[in-house]
Amino acid sequence: MTDRIDLRSDTVTQPTDAMRAAMAAAPVGDDQYGEDPSTNRLQARCAELLGKEAALWLPTGTMANQVALRTLTRPGDEVVASRESHAAWHEAGGAAANAGVQIHEIGRGGRFSASELRAATKPRNFAIFPTTTLVEIENTHNRAGGIVVPQDEVVAIAAVARELGLAAFLDGARLWNASAASGLAVGELAAPFDLVAVAFSKGLGAPGGSLLAGTKATIAIADRHRRRMGGAMRQNGIFSAAALHALDHHLPRLHEDHAHARLFAERLAAGAAVQLDLATVQTNIVVFHLPEALPIDAPTLSARARDLGVLVNAFGPRTVRAVTHLDVTRAQCERAADVLAALLA
Ligand SMILES: *Cc1c(COP(=O)(O)O)cnc(C)c1O
Repeated sequence: MTDRIDLRSDTVTQPTDAMRAAMAAAPVGDDQYGEDPSTNRLQARCAELLGKEAALWLPTGTMANQVALRTLTRPGDEVVASRESHAAWHEAGGAAANAGVQIHEIGRGGRFSASELRAATKPRNFAIFPTTTLVEIENTHNRAGGIVVPQDEVVAIAAVARELGLAAFLDGARLWNASAASGLAVGELAAPFDLVAVAFSKGLGAPGGSLLAGTKATIAIADRHRRRMGGAMRQNGIFSAAALHALDHHLPRLHEDHAHARLFAERLAAGAAVQLDLATVQTNIVVFHLPEALPIDAPTLSARARDLGVLVNAFGPRTVRAVTHLDVTRAQCERAADVLAALLA
């Protein structure tokens, strides 16, 4: 463990001693009776931060997405989302299995325009089409390299959604990063949406937990779907205390991860013939590609780097992802870039 530089994901962090102490000291109760004070405090705090009436804790971001899709659609509906969104690519087909919906992926680079949404929305008066009932935006966008979706684009998409009678969902697992990078409050980023999901287990460094926020009525429906999916828990305050600690102590430092990712990306791009669009490095994720001219593919690079103590994810045959987080230092990010550049030389 000692010398390992783990850039596979921002989910690999260890809870700090202070976070563990907060968890150990957390007042708890049975959350299914609404009696867990720490969870109630977290939900109230996040509802206010996100500018919504109510919020609901969920064990994972995947379940938050599944519950959101189930809450805002009916089986047989179609959801419009960005290409390679988490709900379409990383949830083992859960959108189809749990919500009974199909996802129509549009746009490029993690983004799409309001007019692309309009063109993708199927006419309702035509008997053979699935009904398009929901648009989903992922911000920041994981597979597109952690890009921040420009808020004017979000507002325009939401306006078209309202006009067409679609609900709007924000997969904001890394909305904290979007806020740190854009300087806009999470409440402003979440404002155009009926439901918003945020995660505590990514850049915030908690051992688990996500949350959905929306109107009281929508959250009441989501609560039933959470229970149906087996996600209603009991003395959950141990997790909520970690999330509250993270909001106090880890949220204000996310910009450090962003600076480290940029440093890593610039150093790697300068030292190796990788295909890396520095314009996509806006937060804590670096996605780069290995051109065919390089005699090494992504799984081989990942395996050789691991032997040298640097862990990155092969995201595709020639696509690699590295993610910075609170357990890697600036010097480690520099060293990781040098190790990868040497392997690619
Ligand atoms: C990680 C992630 C999720 C899912 O979170 P888990 O807690 O790993 O289930 C959802 N959406 C995005 C954009 C993510 O990056």
